[in-house]
Amino acid sequence: MERAQQALYEHLPIPVQGLVVAAAGWNSYRNRFGAPFRRILDELSASDFNDADTLREDQERRLRNTILWAADTVPHYREMFRREGIDPRSISTLEDLKKIPFLEKETVRTRPESLRSERIPDRRTIPAHTSGTTGTALRLYYTKEALGWEYGVTWRQRHWFGIELGDKFATFGGQHVVPFHQHVPPFWRYDWPGARMIFSLYHMSPQNLVHYASELHRPVYRFWQGYPSSIGLISQYLLAVGVELGDAAPAAVFTSSETLLDFHRDRIAEVTGAPVADRYGNAEFSVSALQCPAGRYHVDTEFCVLEIDPHEETDEWVRGEVISTGFANRDMPFVRYRTGDIATLLKHETCSCGRSRPLIERIDGRLEDYVITPEGRRIGRMDHVFKDTREVKEAQIYQPAIDELVVRIVPGTGYDGSSEQRLTHELRARVGNQIQIRYELRESLPREPNGKFRAVASALSEAQLR
Ligand SMILES: [Zn+2]
Repeated sequence: MERAQQALYEHLPIPVQGLVVAAAGWNSYRNRFGAPFRRILDELSASDFNDADTLREDQERRLRNTILWAADTVPHYREMFRREGIDPRSISTLEDLKKIPFLEKETVRTRPESLRSERIPDRRTIPAHTSGTTGTALRLYYTKEALGWEYGVTWRQRHWFGIELGDKFATFGGQHVVPFHQHVPPFWRYDWPGARMIFSLYHMSPQNLVHYASELHRPVYRFWQGYPSSIGLISQYLLAVGVELGDAAPAAVFTSSETLLDFHRDRIAEVTGAPVADRYGNAEFSVSALQCPAGRYHVDTEFCVLEIDPHEETDEWVRGEVISTGFANRDMPFVRYRTGDIATLLKHETCSCGRSRPLIERIDGRLEDYVITPEGRRIGRMDHVFKDTREVKEAQIYQPAIDELVVRIVPGTGYDGSSEQRLTHELRARVGNQIQIRYELRESLPREPNGKFRAVASALSEAQLR
């Protein structure tokens, strides 16, 4: 919603807000679940168990189409091919793709219009923007077809876990559906065309969690979906007060939009008894990978090419920044885009689930999820430090400078000096002794404007992090 509409919405009575949410739901339902979606979902179901050669042929065909489209209709790529002296028709395999230079986020930030196809008229475009940290927001443009692909891969994964279209679910995303000034429940609104209850992330204060717990205790939600930090926070609360979900336990929990940290996963799995499956994607629609029932991520080769710009490599795997080329969005195609995400790609292994699409061992986070030590070492997955600390409700590591770490803690029952000693021991084992560590106790931890949580926050520059 635009700001003025949001202000108007917030002053409507709650039942009328419900109607507005449902009307918006119809609109987005048509965009998401219209004709492209049905066709795409059928296509994705048909190719799910294809062998590796067939998948690769199909992927390279989609790649050729995307490259020609970009070279013909998008000013940025037209200039790039001319400047580099590359004939776009010479790019026909994954190997050929490597001739093309990376697309930097800075280019998208400063010249978004140059990345748009001249062939998509404004009336057919859906404008959007990322609401990342200040100064890093990107303007983006999608086609309806792109949304169809996005929801196509989302539903591909849900089907793997026995979920059907129309099943009612609880969602924990960044939507502003409940006014900030509202202090009593309900802190959720129902989007009935989408069959989803949208829970506000902006009202999840310690004193309000009891209301969320009682709504989730109604046995009506077949699955939960959303940010792992928010579902993790509720799960932590349910565990702490000893609530058993019983009949209300979801059949599966799907996380996305943030790195799924082990301590969130463990808490969610423990309280729900359900499989937790993550999706790796981005707002640029340039990448998609889904965690399968065997717990591995498979790259959606119908949606993108995923390459790794290596930081580390062995015969078995390669870890580094994800470089992606997306096929879904013809309005704003991303070719060899530096995503700022870090992942570990397996080179040979196959998955016990029987799917042959390339395997990602894990999503390691974003560049800014790393701590850089004064010696220049890069340390990821700092969340492991908090793995066995039940007395910590939430935690965030902040690196204000190269020689300093601040550990922000929301303490729970049993938190004391010995907890900090244990944490320091765990931290030292990773970051060494050259860096100062201090603790800050907080009542809650900040979210970004879109409700996302950062387990690691860094004030270091992009150059220092890369
Ligand atoms: Zn698998």
